[in-house]
Amino acid sequence: MSVLTDLIYGGAHTVAQLTENAVAAALAQYGPKKEVAFPDTAYAFPTIYAATGVKVKTLGDLPGCVEVQKSLITDREELDAALNAGLATAVGAEILEGLKFVEPGGSYEEARVPGIGFVPDPVIRSLGVPLVTGDIPGVAVVLGEAENPADVAGVVREYQSKGLLTFLVGNVIEQCADQGVKMGLELRVIPLGHQVTSVIHVVTVAVRAALIFGNVQPGDLSGLLAYTKERVPAFVNTFGPIDPVVVSAGAGAIALGFPVVADVDLGENQVPGALESVCDHGKTVEKSLELREIRIRSKELPIPVAFASAFEGEIIRRSDMHTEFYSGDNVTCELVLGREMSQVEDHKIRLIGPDIGDGVQSLPLITFVEVAGKKMQPDFESVIERKIHAWCNYMEGVMHTGQRDQFRIRISRDAYEKGLRLKHLGEVLYHMITEEFGVVVDKCQVTLITDGEQAARFREELALPRYRQRDERLVSMTDESVDRFFTCVLCQSFAPSHCCVVTPERLGLCGAVSWLDAKATYELNPNGPSQPILKEGCLDERTGRYESVNAAVREATHGALENVTLYSIMEDPMTSCGCFECISAIEPSSNGFIVVNREYKGMTPTGMSFGELASFSGGGVQTPGYMGHGRSFIPSKKFAAAEDGIRRIVWMPRELKEAVGERLNATARELYGIEDFTSLIADERVSTVEGLLEFLKEVRHPVLDMEPLL
Ligand code: SF4
Ligand code: ZN
Repeated sequence: MSVLTDLIYGGAHTVAQLTENAVAAALAQYGPKKEVAFPDTAYAFPTIYAATGVKVKTLGDLPGCVEVQKSLITDREELDAALNAGLATAVGAEILEGLKFVEPGGSYEEARVPGIGFVPDPVIRSLGVPLVTGDIPGVAVVLGEAENPADVAGVVREYQSKGLLTFLVGNVIEQCADQGVKMGLELRVIPLGHQVTSVIHVVTVAVRAALIFGNVQPGDLSGLLAYTKERVPAFVNTFGPIDPVVVSAGAGAIALGFPVVADVDLGENQVPGALESVCDHGKTVEKSLELREIRIRSKELPIPVAFASAFEGEIIRRSDMHTEFYSGDNVTCELVLGREMSQVEDHKIRLIGPDIGDGVQSLPLITFVEVAGKKMQPDFESVIERKIHAWCNYMEGVMHTGQRDQFRIRISRDAYEKGLRLKHLGEVLYHMITEEFGVVVDKCQVTLITDGEQAARFREELALPRYRQRDERLVSMTDESVDRFFTCVLCQSFAPSHCCVVTPERLGLCGAVSWLDAKATYELNPNGPSQPILKEGCLDERTGRYESVNAAVREATHGALENVTLYSIMEDPMTSCGCFECISAIEPSSNGFIVVNREYKGMTPTGMSFGELASFSGGGVQTPGYMGHGRSFIPSKKFAAAEDGIRRIVWMPRELKEAVGERLNATARELYGIEDFTSLIADERVSTVEGLLEFLKEVRHPVLDMEPLL
């Protein structure tokens, strides 16, 4: 046997023994009926479920899984067989980690910087869009303990600055923390756990991506391995000496298609493309990205701080803040306007009023961007304007929330000390707009106003009237008033048989793509992910069935989807990729729908959580009665229009109700003359079907007089 296969089998046998012992001990302590589950997932023990189709529910289910694990360890010499032993290690790791959750509650581990352990389903769903847009270009797993902490911190920082999602396993966690690496899901550096088995928590992310987005069927092991290899851009970096368990875990990663780069010399044990040594840490990142063919869109901007999507979630506390621009204290607003060519001087950046650092902590701010171009349309103004939020956040040391004339920007002391000034904000906007919207923007100039009087005048005279004009246009834009809808297939890199149909009154299910966005995407890139669907061949107005829509989705999904309606949840509903903001599901005893948002962690009266409901819809599959959609679709006049519209909504988490309440009530008033409709909708204070029915009777919910849904 080669040294490599020797190590893999050595590790696999060790883990198998550990697993067997741990399962026996747990059975002795709790008995076979004791339930065991990872938190907040609809996929049980995901690796075992995906690979074998078995849903582990109790400790009694585990001995069978240990048998499967052992059967994968054949001690045969060929590399394929050895990689199967790596999968066995993954199965064992999943069981060992799962046993940590036998006693529900409590923290995952005790450590100076504790890992987070299992990643819940809703987090994976929220990662869908950034992964497909390339905003998160890849997933790095950094494991072990570096000889020199600065080496691993340097590598992790580089991934962070390139926007990758990085998971840390082992003592690299403390090493990075001590070196000042900023961590957290929002900063895309996630400490997973200290034991090597915690690496399974990244594996289950990839595995659940296959189940959620890829419609891979449980038990289809080869389908699973093909999906992770082709569609999950992950790789592993190990630091420090490697032992057999690490090697066999690495073999599991390789089986899933994730190359491993080690920082020790493996000599002839290297497997080109799958297991390679890079001892110079200055080359680790480059080699890893190359092995996975991850390309980074580099953005070299003339500013003194880093600029990367990984900083989008950075929070700047008051105590770390140098300057704030906040609409609660001063006039703030941001406006993008289309102009004549002669009115715009390209790359002109002007500041009217004091700069940051001139003695004041709190300032007004007008961010005024004027663009000109032959193909520029007024509809693109708001599309560009909404990106200001993300671009500001990409600057390290800058936080932006809100939009239009209601926003807050904070600049950290650290960024100020590095030399960040307002003109750099102008530079960022100029460079990003000309790069991303270059097809329609030929010239761009930015004016920043911090003078209070001029800012107030700008807001009154230019910004507010323009916002009002745009709002009126949005209200007048209905599905009836346009001649075309748009497809969006961005999510196909994860969900190959899914296609969204985006209409003025129904935005994409991720919540990030409105009809205007899709239209702009098409104009910017006519061969891109959004294609127009001319509104032709209406087959049924009630459900929103069109020949042209059917033809478009059939083509976009390569035949996977034949028919789809725009306005029904019960008849050929629109499919989901998996990254939807909310799910609507039938609640049969009340004949209504419940609507649940991804952030809601509790139970619903159906006895299912968001994650469990969400698992009915995804991967491009059509499941009547279950439909994923964006938050802003709820108050739409087209929401479940075929099933009597929003009047069917019987339950929503309170937070969601509050977020969409004003518009939902307005729609109910306008369409049905119902006042204060949200007060008729139950929330988490009602947790059972009986309770729900009682509540509906009490408030005399209109659903009680409607035809059955089934
Ligand atoms: Fe994905 Fe649909 Fe959003 Fe497009 S509109 S990004 S396909 S969820
Ligand atoms: Zn999606």
